[in-house]
Amino acid sequence: MAARRITRRWLFNSFGVIIVILVALIGAFSIGIRGYYYNLVWQAGNSRLSTLSTYIGSLSKRLSPMEYQTELRNLVANFEDKDKMELMALNGKGQIAITSSGFESEETVEFPDFAQALLDESGTARFQGDLNGENVCAITQTLTQPSDEITALRVVISMSRVDRQIISSILVISLVGLLVIGAVLFSSLYFINSIIAPLDEVGETAKEIAQGNFSAKLEKKNDDEIGDLVEVINHMAEELASTEQMKNDFISSVSHELRTPLTAIKGWGETLSDPAGMDPQMLQKGMRVIVNETQRLSSMVEELLDFSRIQSGRLSLSMARIDLVAELSEAVLMFTERAKRENIRLFYDEPELFFPVTGDKNRLRQGFVNIIDNALKYSDSGDTVTVSIQKQGNFAVIGIADTGIGIRPEDLPKVKEKFYKANSTRRGSGIGLAVADEIITCHGGTLSLDSTLGKGTTVTIQIPLCPKNAVAEE
Ligand code: ATP
Ligand code: MG
Repeated sequence: MAARRITRRWLFNSFGVIIVILVALIGAFSIGIRGYYYNLVWQAGNSRLSTLSTYIGSLSKRLSPMEYQTELRNLVANFEDKDKMELMALNGKGQIAITSSGFESEETVEFPDFAQALLDESGTARFQGDLNGENVCAITQTLTQPSDEITALRVVISMSRVDRQIISSILVISLVGLLVIGAVLFSSLYFINSIIAPLDEVGETAKEIAQGNFSAKLEKKNDDEIGDLVEVINHMAEELASTEQMKNDFISSVSHELRTPLTAIKGWGETLSDPAGMDPQMLQKGMRVIVNETQRLSSMVEELLDFSRIQSGRLSLSMARIDLVAELSEAVLMFTERAKRENIRLFYDEPELFFPVTGDKNRLRQGFVNIIDNALKYSDSGDTVTVSIQKQGNFAVIGIADTGIGIRPEDLPKVKEKFYKANSTRRGSGIGLAVADEIITCHGGTLSLDSTLGKGTTVTIQIPLCPKNAVAEE
């Protein structure tokens, strides 16, 4: 559809203008060439008449009236250019006395140019028009010395040949015009087609993509604007495919994560619904599981909410000057009990220095919690987690190292991506690191991972310190 509309627009706009210009040019050419040829004819007639007049003027001086009359008749009868034009001798009434064609008409023809020539100061007048069905140009000139019988000379030039010449010139130029139009039409249609065909393809593929076929690909044929569009569409399809993949990952990982605590809660809920005769220890254990799993669910929902805020750019940070050590210490403290329970040694040497940063303390703490949680989660009984913080230049550098299961080298670059889980043996929705990374980035810092499979992982965080105070404290 688009294609036809573009062609129609082009036909009306560009091609229409070209045709109008060509028609105007051909029209101007026709008028010009007619003027040119007619002018040549007038000039030829004039010059012939003026030569004759000069000659006749000299005759009148040296000949007697009778001889003059005879000579004039001879001159007309034997006119040497008769093949090109007709010479007439007109009497005082404007009738033909003798003509070079030898044809003497009985009819009295009135020549409008004769009457005009009589009135004209120079004794000359022109006529152009139809004479006995033929287009002619005629010039009449009165003689300065009229004889009894002859008052004026008139040359008549038939315009048939000239008109034919003009028409054939116009035909040739029109043909050239048609050829130009044909060439423009052909090349433009070819050009338009080269735009329309790929555009149609783009439209079709975009439709397919809209219907959910993200594997639809366009082939980039030329390195032009359409090529760029093709690249953009392909890129869009890739992005949509990865979003789709992300959505699927999200659904599967979240539903899996939700199912486990919900199953536990449901199971214990059912068991505890009839507490009569139940062992109090059992009851306590059941209640603990329900509380813990509910807690897990609510923190998961919190994490998801944060994640959605980050995704939509709505993560609001309430920035203030805070002590980074305080937040890190608090995060570590939250895990001491769990570390003990899981038999993981958690080392943290709290520095006495003040690490001032401009940041959102809750978010930063949450970031640390996510990373320490990983360190514990991906470690086994007997492993060690070491948390450290130190100053390096204007940065606070925090290290969270574990001797846990480590990450495969091929997974390492991807673990910061949302919903990416390098290990499915442990529970998790795959967004903890993505959230932490986003929080640290929002504080102008960086988060990097270093890991050896089977040996352990070190997460290093760099956060810029408040410059002035950082110097003052040191
Ligand atoms: P969530 O934190 O959202 O509950 P998660 O821990 O699986 O889930 P992330 O914290 O984003 O997700 O971590 C992504 C993946 O990186 C993990 O699934 C895990 O495979 C790997 N990973 C992260 N930290 C460690 C670590 N300290 N040791 C080994 N693997 C890790
Ligand atoms: Mg995690």
